[in-house]
Amino acid sequence: MSDWEASSDEDSGAAGRPPFSVAAAPLLWQPPVAPSRSHASAEDGRGRRGSEKWREAAAGSLQGEEWEPRGAGGSWGSVEVAGQWPPRAAAAAVRHARDPAAPLCLHLDSALVGALIDRGGAKIRELEESSGARIQVLKGTYEAEVKIFGSITVQNKAKMLIEDTVTRLGQNYIRGGTEKAKHLDLIKPENTLQKSVINWASIRENKARYEAMKWADLPPVEKNFYKESSRTASMSQEEVELWRKENNNIICNDLKEGEKRCIPNPVCKFEDVFEHYPDVMANIRKAGFEKPTPIQSQAWPIILQGIDLIGIAQTGTGKTLAYLMPGFIHLDSQPIPRDQRGGPGMLVLAPTRELALQVEAECSKYTYKGIKSICIYGGGDRKGQINEVTKGVDIVIATPGRLNDLQMNSFINLKSITYLVLDEADRMLDMGFEPQIMKILIDVRPDRQTVMTSATWPDGVRRLAKSYLKNPMIVYVGTLDLAAVDTVKQRVVVIPEEEKRTFTRYFIDSMKPKDKVIIFVGKKLTADDLASDFGLQGIPVQSLHGNREQCDREQALDDFKKGRVRILIATDLASRGLDVHDITHVFNFDFPRNIEEYIHRVGRTGRAGRTGEAVTLVTKNDWRVASELIDILERANQAVPNELISMAERYKQFQLKKEIERDVRRPQRRPPKEL
Ligand code: AMP
Repeated sequence: MSDWEASSDEDSGAAGRPPFSVAAAPLLWQPPVAPSRSHASAEDGRGRRGSEKWREAAAGSLQGEEWEPRGAGGSWGSVEVAGQWPPRAAAAAVRHARDPAAPLCLHLDSALVGALIDRGGAKIRELEESSGARIQVLKGTYEAEVKIFGSITVQNKAKMLIEDTVTRLGQNYIRGGTEKAKHLDLIKPENTLQKSVINWASIRENKARYEAMKWADLPPVEKNFYKESSRTASMSQEEVELWRKENNNIICNDLKEGEKRCIPNPVCKFEDVFEHYPDVMANIRKAGFEKPTPIQSQAWPIILQGIDLIGIAQTGTGKTLAYLMPGFIHLDSQPIPRDQRGGPGMLVLAPTRELALQVEAECSKYTYKGIKSICIYGGGDRKGQINEVTKGVDIVIATPGRLNDLQMNSFINLKSITYLVLDEADRMLDMGFEPQIMKILIDVRPDRQTVMTSATWPDGVRRLAKSYLKNPMIVYVGTLDLAAVDTVKQRVVVIPEEEKRTFTRYFIDSMKPKDKVIIFVGKKLTADDLASDFGLQGIPVQSLHGNREQCDREQALDDFKKGRVRILIATDLASRGLDVHDITHVFNFDFPRNIEEYIHRVGRTGRAGRTGEAVTLVTKNDWRVASELIDILERANQAVPNELISMAERYKQFQLKKEIERDVRRPQRRPPKEL
């Protein structure tokens, strides 16, 4: 299938679900004055915000006692609803009939609800004041539900005012006059029950109608800005292949189904790709870069042609500039001027605050035609971020949780995004951000250009790519295999748990003045504990983990980057993405959860042409990973300690014994009776 996005909708059953199932009713809006909301924005350790939990609870309540029955002649979009859907609707209906103060529920098309909830809820407050009712809006994918609280009189008054507001909007919304607006089923009051028949064809039709309406007013997107230089065009196939082999063994593929397109030749010099963009060239000269990195050479001609790209590359490969430079050109070359698009044009989603800030720092190093960027992340100053966004920016770099918060509260318009980047997609999946990404992308136009980067290419990332990219090309650069990293010397020390601290102190004492080390630990508590231990011993250290305040995390990283401290004690928060060139040592105080994380950690050193050393403490508790570790060490021609080999053997024996015991315990099958 060529249209992956459409297929993913089908697959996920999104089109086939009633718009107000819990999964499809993610957006709950209330006027910001509501007191319980103001303090619900902090992210917890896993990137889930307080408001997120509150919202989930609210979504959950849609199935509970608070539900109002769907009314006669009413529907959920085009879903013909029954007394049994939602399951407790019948009970709620009875309650509604007896209790005059039960909320009155109206349904209207999501596209029209903007009139009620924009300007931070000023309109709702106005309606509340005029009617005396309290109004709550639940924004769903296709429909919004409006609940009106108060006496029957004020409910009716509020309903009339809402109808009036929305009808006026409906007439404005449909270009070409009011005729079509009349056919729009704007408001569907709920009064009585209906039988349970779900009209799926109608749901699909309605979805298509809604989609068409949602994107109808948007200007066209320009995507192709590539002018191949004569030098690039004249490369022979052999030259191209040799060049790719010699540049981190680049592998490219066209993932479009059906007839494959020609993969553009790599660009060997900056001029080959940016000679028509002098401002980009000026930035590159200012940065002093000599030549494009492998990912840049192959990604730029693909992205600049307007093709979606998956870049399998780690931090440190120059992947940020690989998507930023074409992004600048894309933003500035759209038919509608930037300040008239009603919102940002480029969105970069990043998994952690650190990475988001790092991308923002990289982005603001370059000046391109006055393009403004902002970083939106949980733990940062929410009010300040809202102020910046509403003033107008071109590029938003965000962690999914906080962006989803601002989107849900209508502080940011994502419909203007035409260039989307999903940075470190594998990490975003590991951190459980997929639901937030899904919600965010509902509001991003489907005909955008999308670039995705990932250090690995597991099934989850493939699925994400299939859902959100269209006919992409893929470029693999380098490899996660440490056999290829001959710049890092790996040393493994098998040691009893209780001697780890003494050994670490010995290691620190033997550090040279120019050495810089990240000490990786398994738990936040251990990080704090070690940091305070060393602090008491007069050793300057910083620590980085998810329980620290955002400002402390930023300070720790800055101190380490700038060399004010030369020892950073960190959890795996720092194992990927951090770009500090001069780390000479990685010290694994605790062995990581898995071997992939070990590879990521070790990759923090030996960067940008330098050499590095990784020291790893292994205790008998780590015996599970011993054989995988041996494999990595051998492939990278590193010394393998005998204790590690015997540890791996002991674990193998242990597994074998367990298997035999299991077999013995398993009931023996009787031989079949002879006939
Ligand atoms: P990234 O992989 O995006 O985290 O980039 C790692 C570092 O490489 C950043 O500090 C960039 O400024 C730097 N960088 C990006 N492109 C180049 C290049 N062509 N030559 C040298 N350094 C670069």
